[in-house]
Amino acid sequence: MHKTNTNKLIVGSLIAEPGARVEGRLSVGNMPDGTPIRVPVVLINGKQSGKTLYLQAISDGNELNGIAVIHEILGQIDPAELSGGLIAVPVVNVHAFHAKQAYSPVDNVKMNRCFPGRSDGTSSERIAYQLFEKAVRNADYCIDLHQGGVQPMIDEVRVRVGERHRCYSACLALARVFGVGYILDQKGPKGQLAQAAPDIGIPTIDPELGGTHGWDTVSINKGVRGVLNVLKHYQFIDGTPELPDQQIVVNKFVPILSNKGGFVYYKAKLYDRIEARQPIAEIRDVFGNVSEVVRSPEEGIFWSHPVYPMVASGGIIGKIGTPISYL
Ligand SMILES: [Zn+2]
Repeated sequence: MHKTNTNKLIVGSLIAEPGARVEGRLSVGNMPDGTPIRVPVVLINGKQSGKTLYLQAISDGNELNGIAVIHEILGQIDPAELSGGLIAVPVVNVHAFHAKQAYSPVDNVKMNRCFPGRSDGTSSERIAYQLFEKAVRNADYCIDLHQGGVQPMIDEVRVRVGERHRCYSACLALARVFGVGYILDQKGPKGQLAQAAPDIGIPTIDPELGGTHGWDTVSINKGVRGVLNVLKHYQFIDGTPELPDQQIVVNKFVPILSNKGGFVYYKAKLYDRIEARQPIAEIRDVFGNVSEVVRSPEEGIFWSHPVYPMVASGGIIGKIGTPISYL
């Protein structure tokens, strides 16, 4: 049994008493005309005590699936039934989101290279800093919802610390519990939230929920189930996580290159298990003649491909996740 919660959940000037839900905005800077830059935040503070989960979306401004996941989770979680706290930030990169692009037009920086942020940095670094100091530090677990931009990609979860990191096992456990069935276990570039938060001892994952323009309900539903799995496993809410019997783990991506320029007619689909030298696509020239059969350089999972089925010579027509192991 969980004890009655007596702690307030606090992010900046937002305060949620036990059993309460609070929504508001965190001030993170100013525009040139003085308009405040404010990031939306929702706090749900459970009636019972427990851990705190930090959930954010739209760190890349055109990755919309995560906001739908957060909306669905917020609709399902009743503070009376919650043990612990939930901090949700539905739109992190407000400027990029308004511009419908990945990077903020204010400083042209990728938000997921900015964590843990800088108080004296660029606009994106300052947003990252405020979120990290005021929200992330309060959490026991973090989920940073992403997708493959607008490029079609499988639903997967990323662990972005190396295997020697003190938080590695806890991050991998969190990825397994999220349970979409595919995990990229690969140390990521500096500045990712999925590195900066583990560096202060907070297990963090970066789910990549497909890739599309606008919404993708299949990916969104997998994301909702993933967050609910985490909430159940770590005893925020009652219930048993719904997990696949076996999950595939890969450590890197290998590009599949076309030697010829032309139009790409795929012979393989995302999620296919690919053998080395397996044909992935035919390339046809502009007159419709087959000019090349592109084969996979390695065994693995067909992980992602570009939006448009055209390629210049030397261009990438897809990526293979490899080598395959099971968790
Ligand atoms: Zn992203």
